[in-house]
Amino acid sequence: MTIDGPAGAGKSTVARRLARRLGYRLLDTGAIYRAVALGALRGGVAMDDEPALAALARALDIDFAFEGDVNRVLLGGEDVTAAIRTPDASQAASKVSAWPAVRAALLELQRRLGGRGGVVVEGRDTGTVVFPDAGAKFFLTASGEVRAQRRLEELAAAGKSVGFDDTLAEIHERDSRDASRDVAPMRAADDAVLVDSSQMTLDQVIDAIENEVRARAG
Ligand code: C5P
Repeated sequence: MTIDGPAGAGKSTVARRLARRLGYRLLDTGAIYRAVALGALRGGVAMDDEPALAALARALDIDFAFEGDVNRVLLGGEDVTAAIRTPDASQAASKVSAWPAVRAALLELQRRLGGRGGVVVEGRDTGTVVFPDAGAKFFLTASGEVRAQRRLEELAAAGKSVGFDDTLAEIHERDSRDASRDVAPMRAADDAVLVDSSQMTLDQVIDAIENEVRARAG
């Protein structure tokens, strides 16, 4: 099953908890783009150098490891779980992900990691491009203000203080870049179920999606 949607809609938390409830694996495709972005930032690769970014993507040595409730991301064996979540890494991920050669390089990797079924895949184009035949697809969204507030709280919990206006601007900038790129723009698949979580609690969202998945599975 796939969950796509804009930044801060709650995809990661919903996907993680759903995977546990359903006994599925989890594939966070955003983490893959973030890992490429981190590699580029560290290696001084320019955000407009498509061939160099694609080479980084092809050589990506990424691994996931569940530790309790945390889905740890390992890049070349190094734990980069926190490093890929900074605002700089978020913006860089959105920039590198707009390049067709980068997306092409990561497509096979995502299909390999998520292809055997029994998996919750989350991202922007997982229902439209990566797994168009997924058995159940969801597009999870919420108003910009609600998403900014949630992101703020998430960063605060991680000990980082940022302003509401800056966070809202960052979210809008990323949304418009993700939705307007030429290749695999963020959009709901035609057969996706739309879930607007603005007025819903986390548990309500998870229950709604779980019920739908179980109903489809028969
Ligand atoms: O979901 P997350 O915020 O971690 O994704 C980071 C960035 O990676 C997004 O802003 C988007 O530009 C890119 N992305 C993508 N396609 C995906 C998942 C993420 O382009 N399937």
